[in-house]
Amino acid sequence: MLGPVILAASRSDRIRRLISAAPVTKQVVDRFIPGETVDEIVPIVRELTGRGLELTMDVVGEDITTPGQAAAARDAYLELVDRLKQLELGPRAEMSVKLSMFGQALGGGHDLALSNVRPVVEAAAAIGTTVTLDAEDHTTLDSMFAIHEELRKDFPQTGCVIQAYLFRTEADARRLAGNGSRVRLVKGAYREPAEVAHQQKHEIDKAYVRILKVLMEGEGYPMIGSHDPRLISIAQELAHRAGRKPGEYEFQMLYGIRGDEHLRLAAEGHRMRVYTAYGTDWYGYFMRRLAEKPANLRFFARSLVTKG
Ligand SMILES: Cc1cc2nc3c(=O)[nH]c(=O)nc-3n(C[C@H](O)[C@H](O)[C@H](O)COP(=O)(O)OP(=O)(O)OC[C@H]3O[C@@H](n4cnc5c(N)ncnc54)[C@H](O)[C@@H]3O)c2cc1C
Repeated sequence: MLGPVILAASRSDRIRRLISAAPVTKQVVDRFIPGETVDEIVPIVRELTGRGLELTMDVVGEDITTPGQAAAARDAYLELVDRLKQLELGPRAEMSVKLSMFGQALGGGHDLALSNVRPVVEAAAAIGTTVTLDAEDHTTLDSMFAIHEELRKDFPQTGCVIQAYLFRTEADARRLAGNGSRVRLVKGAYREPAEVAHQQKHEIDKAYVRILKVLMEGEGYPMIGSHDPRLISIAQELAHRAGRKPGEYEFQMLYGIRGDEHLRLAAEGHRMRVYTAYGTDWYGYFMRRLAEKPANLRFFARSLVTKG
């Protein structure tokens, strides 16, 4: 399994410096993170929504170390909301946030993250859209779910993410499958120990189907975050069996991965939301994309050798 090795190596400062400074990096990064500023991302938002896709926007930058950076992250999202307001997209463009970027890992982090994310959720609601809290490594999740619950008291449409690889997730899904909840199910992208998470792909896939069944049979709004063709057809079957019509669940995929499939599902009448990340602090997001598909790393390594 190369993925966990890549994720472990990505924590090294040396690897970070090497990858960040390599001349070919930018063109590979652009495949997954198609802009650094809000001005650069607005044309992409226009293009994708013009093609019938919906969006969830992510400002990258999870590796913050000071409360000032957490406040800057909040302001970057507020700037984004301002631009989305001008585009008048309503719920067709929502936002995804990582609470680490809002200060969750700093001293007093739980309260700091809540106080930074709340204005973003408020601003999103004011333009008719919403925010989904991404799931990060397992040590952060109790705090994330508590913040989610707190935000939902005033903004019940606030979504959250659950990860099929974690043993805890089936129970989380049952708790979250109630009326009005919006839950994105993903396989999970972090390096997790065997005490808390399935390690084998087939075990993760089986768990994904079990959890998806809970969400589909529940009263909430399931968001299927996967590019896996098998899981996408199983999701359609489960939705059908649960009596859900298109529009009562949605598919979500990452920008830069299986773009033809985004358009195919949208053309079939499904709600298809593209997770579109932008910003300058792309390292963590980019390394998870490399780890998910070792062929990406091989391509990247070849580019380093041939052009570097
Ligand atoms: C909308 C969305 C939001 C997400 N949010 C979170 C989150 O909050 N927390 C979290 O832990 N994880 C998140 N993830 C990542 C997720 O956990 C997986 O790591 C990722 O989706 C890959 O799993 P998969 O279901 O696509 O299946 P896989 O079996 O990994 O992939 C299926 C197929 O998709 C293609 N593919 C998948 N990944 C890549 C890639 N990086 N590059 C090129 N092709 C690829 C390949 O063709 C592959 O065969 C999110 C994913 C999506 C789609």
